[in-house]
Amino acid sequence: MNIHEYQGKDILRSYGVNVPNGHVAYTVDEAVEAAEKLDSSVKVVKAQIHAGGRGKAGGVKIAKNLDEVRTYANEILGKTLVTHQTGPEGKEVKRLLIEEGCDIQKEYYVGLVMDRATSRVVMMASEEGGTEIEEVAAETPEKIFKEIIDPVVGLSGYQARRLAFNINIPDELIGKAAKFMMSLYTAFVDKDCSIAEINPLVTTGDGQVLALDSKLNFDDNAMFRQKDILELRDLDEEDEKEIDASKYDLSYVSLDGNIGCMVNGAGLAMSTMDIIKHYGGDPANFLDVGGGATAEKVTEAFKIILSDSNVKGIFVNIFGGIMKCDVIAEGVVEATKQVGLEMPLVVRLEGTNVKLGKQILDESGLNITSAGSMADGAEKIVSMVK
Ligand code: ADP
Ligand code: MG
Repeated sequence: MNIHEYQGKDILRSYGVNVPNGHVAYTVDEAVEAAEKLDSSVKVVKAQIHAGGRGKAGGVKIAKNLDEVRTYANEILGKTLVTHQTGPEGKEVKRLLIEEGCDIQKEYYVGLVMDRATSRVVMMASEEGGTEIEEVAAETPEKIFKEIIDPVVGLSGYQARRLAFNINIPDELIGKAAKFMMSLYTAFVDKDCSIAEINPLVTTGDGQVLALDSKLNFDDNAMFRQKDILELRDLDEEDEKEIDASKYDLSYVSLDGNIGCMVNGAGLAMSTMDIIKHYGGDPANFLDVGGGATAEKVTEAFKIILSDSNVKGIFVNIFGGIMKCDVIAEGVVEATKQVGLEMPLVVRLEGTNVKLGKQILDESGLNITSAGSMADGAEKIVSMVK
């Protein structure tokens, strides 16, 4: 789960991580009111969307007075911001963060992620802040420093100081930077984050170390014990089909292609997408209906696929183990009865109750092409869509 920058900063502040003062605003008037409450002469008007790269796209503006706050708030609110993370369709800005402008001396990068290779949380830092870390990693990987964190001990003071030293934080601010990193780590663990990225972390003219940006992601599997985080969910920022899917506990991710996929098991879903690509097609989604899906769940899954206007054909690829082929078949028939089906449908069923499943599909009167194997099915749907 993802949250907005201002929400992330509120959480960080509560852990003693230094962030600028600021307030959220939903309207231009609220933006001006929020700016009036801030002490600094310079205020920053920041678009709140679940994507980075806002600065370059015109979503972060420095205002020297209240009139400028009004002008920029007017300009940004309601605007569709296109950044390298939003995709070409962009994201509409519905909230702003109005915060104190600060006198930046230098921008750095600090991030915490789960490292699967070591099964530990890793803190990464770089003196190349403000730019995309992926670019730094690709072009000058020697400028990224890492500390692997022992889960029992936590981030040690010496590790934090070593990171601060390695990224060339000025000597007199190393203590503050280390304290910043340690508080960030505590917040990360306490709140079950999967990512905490501060880009940029800055040093200021008046000798502060603070987070100018905040990106916190949370482990969905921990949301049962993070109720206060769950309340921060902003459905406007999520794909409608993915919200529907989460209601039915389906693992669904929208993609750019035109072949809808309904598969059971994450591994089979991944390889189905690969094999569609192999035959020159493009999957419209990743969809794992899971092991114990009911006919109702399959019906909903099918409806979600059909609600995507990019979908020009559907490939159902099911290996019936715990999941029975007849249940899948019933779901497919039910869904097409409810919403209609005017596109090619290729079905490959294998496993438990496969004969019964095929019989249900045959007797449904639907125009279904059956496939003998996964490769056969992928090849068929790709050529039919073309
Ligand atoms: P994004 O990563 O989406 O572009 P950031 O929050 O990182 O958005 O802001 C982009 C840039 O704007 C920062 O690198 C920084 O230079 C500047 N900036 C952001 N917030 C402030 C602030 N409070 N005061 C001064 N400059 C800021
Ligand atoms: Mg940033």
